[in-house]
Amino acid sequence: MKRMPAIFVGHGSPMIALDHNELTETYGRVGQAVLEKFGRPKAILMISAHWYTRGTLVQSAAKPRQVYDMYGFSEELYALKYEPSGSAELTQEVQNVLGDAVEVDDSWGIDHGTWSILVHIFPQADIPVVQLSVNGLLSDEESYALGEKLAVLRGKGYLVMGSGNVVHNLREVEWENPHGSAAADRFDAYIKEAVEKRDDEKVIFYHQHPDASYAAPTPDHYLPLLYILGASKGEKPYVFNNVRNLGSMALTGYAFGL
Ligand code: ZN
Repeated sequence: MKRMPAIFVGHGSPMIALDHNELTETYGRVGQAVLEKFGRPKAILMISAHWYTRGTLVQSAAKPRQVYDMYGFSEELYALKYEPSGSAELTQEVQNVLGDAVEVDDSWGIDHGTWSILVHIFPQADIPVVQLSVNGLLSDEESYALGEKLAVLRGKGYLVMGSGNVVHNLREVEWENPHGSAAADRFDAYIKEAVEKRDDEKVIFYHQHPDASYAAPTPDHYLPLLYILGASKGEKPYVFNNVRNLGSMALTGYAFGL
């Protein structure tokens, strides 16, 4: 069995679920590349910024519910259906790998961090999805170390994905700006260079950068990247959607082993 990739995806605004543009076409190409090179993953382990919890939680529902965890968007977005099944086998594998450090929890479901991008990456929704929460109690180094433990799942036919944004600052959003602010551009370029060089320490200790508090005022959208870096140690990235928009959002994605 070929080792599945580990992929970090920038998701931006939830409206991206309804978009058809260069960004979403690239998502589609990433999904196609996975299917063509590796075949269908047994399931996807998705670490979504929108499941930010105290403790590490994993889902086990056979049919996880779709969560519309965003407010004030168009009705069309709330009508969008993306309903993959869960995978008891993957839930068990995660428990085997993380032991006492993870707890099964089905109070949440497939949130928009997951479905707004998967609707483009794997539009058929025929690959089971299990979400793993982003643990807000872990340090940045511990988040990376947890990702390292997940790497073994890739060899068992599971696609490991993270969904967030390297730059994500809702307070600083510039709705009319199709590009990034100077601070967003600087921080995203800094992280990109570090990821390309696999200077993981720089990415883990991102607070050393002067724009870090602008780029990641809360860590929820940044941390999925650290999990994915841990799960792909030493591998060079394929960088996609190297784009900033709305001033304070970066959509830059990194695929490893693709
Ligand atoms: Zn988000």
